Amino acid sequence: MSVVIIGGHDRMVSQYKKICKNYNCKAKVFTQMSASLKVDESALTGESLGVEKMTDAIEGEVPLGDRTNMVYSGSFVTYGRGSFVVTGIGMETEVGKIASLLKTTSEKKTPLQVNLDQFGQKLSIIILVFCGILFGINVFRGGNIGDAFLFAVALAVAAIPEALSSIVTIVLSFGTQKMAKEHAIIRKLQAVEGLGSVSIICSDKTGTLTQNKMTVEQYYVNETVIPADKIDVKDSEQEKLMYFSILCNDSTNVDGVEIGDPTETALINLGSKLGLDIQKIRGEYPRESENPFDSDRKLMSTKHTIDETPIMVVKGAVDVIMGRTASIQCGDEVRAITPEDIEKIEAQNQSFSREGLRVLGFAYKAVSAEEELSLEDENNLTFLGLIAMMDPPREESKAAVEECIKAGIRPVMITGDHKITAAAIAKRIGILKDLSEACEGAEIENMSDEELRGFVPKISVYARVSPEHKIRIVRAWQERGNIVSMTGDGVNDAPALKQADIGVAMGVTGTEVAKDAAAMVLTDDNFATIVKAVENGRNLYRNIKYAIQFLLSGNFGAILAVLYASIAGLPVPFAPVHLLFINLLTDSLPAIALGVEPHTSDVMNEKPRPADESILTKDFLSKIGLEGLVIGVMTMISFLTGYHQDGALLGSTYAFGTLCLARLFHGYNCKSDHPVIFTKRFFNNKWMQGAFALGAILITAVLTIPGLHQVFKVETLNFEQLGTVYLYAFACFPIIQLLKWVRGKLSE
Ligand code: ATP
Repeated sequence: MSVVIIGGHDRMVSQYKKICKNYNCKAKVFTQMSASLKVDESALTGESLGVEKMTDAIEGEVPLGDRTNMVYSGSFVTYGRGSFVVTGIGMETEVGKIASLLKTTSEKKTPLQVNLDQFGQKLSIIILVFCGILFGINVFRGGNIGDAFLFAVALAVAAIPEALSSIVTIVLSFGTQKMAKEHAIIRKLQAVEGLGSVSIICSDKTGTLTQNKMTVEQYYVNETVIPADKIDVKDSEQEKLMYFSILCNDSTNVDGVEIGDPTETALINLGSKLGLDIQKIRGEYPRESENPFDSDRKLMSTKHTIDETPIMVVKGAVDVIMGRTASIQCGDEVRAITPEDIEKIEAQNQSFSREGLRVLGFAYKAVSAEEELSLEDENNLTFLGLIAMMDPPREESKAAVEECIKAGIRPVMITGDHKITAAAIAKRIGILKDLSEACEGAEIENMSDEELRGFVPKISVYARVSPEHKIRIVRAWQERGNIVSMTGDGVNDAPALKQADIGVAMGVTGTEVAKDAAAMVLTDDNFATIVKAVENGRNLYRNIKYAIQFLLSGNFGAILAVLYASIAGLPVPFAPVHLLFINLLTDSLPAIALGVEPHTSDVMNEKPRPADESILTKDFLSKIGLEGLVIGVMTMISFLTGYHQDGALLGSTYAFGTLCLARLFHGYNCKSDHPVIFTKRFFNNKWMQGAFALGAILITAVLTIPGLHQVFKVETLNFEQLGTVYLYAFACFPIIQLLKWVRGKLSE
């Protein structure tokens, strides 16, 4: 458990040191001013609302164990500042205790794994019953009970696809590794499957669709628009606006290294460009108190003493500033603001926004020298001016939006920015065609859930949204039967990220809380990465399907061959060791190779897969049945050929060789729903070539090396006999390719 002591006045330093000594721990002591402090303890308690912590608790006794005075490791400061004394680390913390509990709990399976496990269970029961009947028939015919039992068990082992679940896990893990290299870190394995079904992608604007590289383009003071390169810092109003934008600002730029929000670095970069010394100005007018920026309030304010007057400087969204303004600065004079003034400022804001510029309003007021700033102070302000900045769309955003739409996915922009600015950017990248498709968060505030469900399809851009709006928008789309992906970066976005089917957090600008709540983290904060992740998700799902098709059709072929032999009163075509050989060596490797088939972009030509669609559809099972039938028939023909040439042992050797090789060739059939013969795709998977080569070498060795015939219960084949086996096995390949071609033609 960690203890926190909140507050940070100089006089507390000695107290901190005393506590550190008592607890025998080292802690860095901060000597900053205290501010109100809220902490998100949702990681521990599940409560997403920030918990207010006691300030100035240091005076007198420190009430250890009092929750209001403790911050637990793993929780996050969501508001304000504090100084902390660490009293426990690692496994001694609350999170540590949970971590040790986690060691005893197992990982949850993905829906696909559960689906396959259930299918595997049903299949196992059917196969066990079938093997029981076969055992009965063999014993009834006077066979040896031990041999009959061994055979029944071996057939069960060969027919039950017990590797299915592990192959899915291996494929998903390989897939997530690939996705991580492409800037999408998957935190929840379920997300990979979910990505294939995403039909709505709700995305932030700033930094995700745009570059988040802001540059100041224009100033607006005293009813005049001034381009950034014409700003005159000798003009008192322009100088004031410049100073305020440097003081009410948390960012720094030291030797070209920018730290902080790009909106704010843009402001200090302009100051530096015009020859101002940022550190000097900040040193001259130090910050005495602050209300930090918060995307709900859309404001930030700081207190400084300027010309011996304590002043609160406020910057934020223009509409919010205007709602709190009582007066206006005109030259050196301050007078009451009139409706005409407001109209002019709003018109200018609209004009900047139509150019896709991001606009910040600046205002100030005199405050009391003693008191710390509070949110109530952000009223009755004096309007000073506007600063408009450009944040160009990312180059790849337009193409990614286009691809999204082609893939049947609707991109939706959800931003805290101004409606006109957001709509201008959205239009440029193809999310929106007409301004009527844009709305403000406030418009949905009074809508019932039902009204919102009917409203969301009409809207592509939501501006000035709060985190609560985000949750409602996600829910409305979900209630319409969609699988929704939602991006977020702030602490307040966490509930919306949890609500979304695929919560996507920003890796660069996102808070730890948002990352914690997300299923996927983008390491480049880029919208195009989400679209790429969807493509990867669709490809992975398709590859898993191919691997399942390969395993089940091959198993079905083996069962059919055995079934035919039993019904026709022929000797058993396989020895147990044959089935185990196939199952362990020549089966799993091509299945894994299919799981890592190279991804193709044609998956993005299809509509999103319905989330509740079972992987084992009628169409899929019919493919498995048909392809299994071809393999089974060729195996039996091969068996009969050998049987008539030289009795049961040669027949069994032929059947074993043919089934084994036919399954290796079948790996190539399962690479696509379409014929791959005579296409580049036939050669595009080096893992498949490796699996085929290894399998072919092993089976050829077993069939031709004389010393092995006893172990593998085969007859050693000569060159001609081996050729016959290869021919029967290979025949499955063109037949199934032809069937695929016919299927394709029929479905056109
Ligand atoms: P998105 O939600 O797409 O990331 P955004 O950055 O505009 O867009 P927020 O960060 O919620 O969303 O900001 C909301 C509004 O608050 C902005 O449009 C801007 O007017 C204002 N704003 C943004 N950053 C600051 C800041 N550092 N200080 C004061 N106001 C800010």
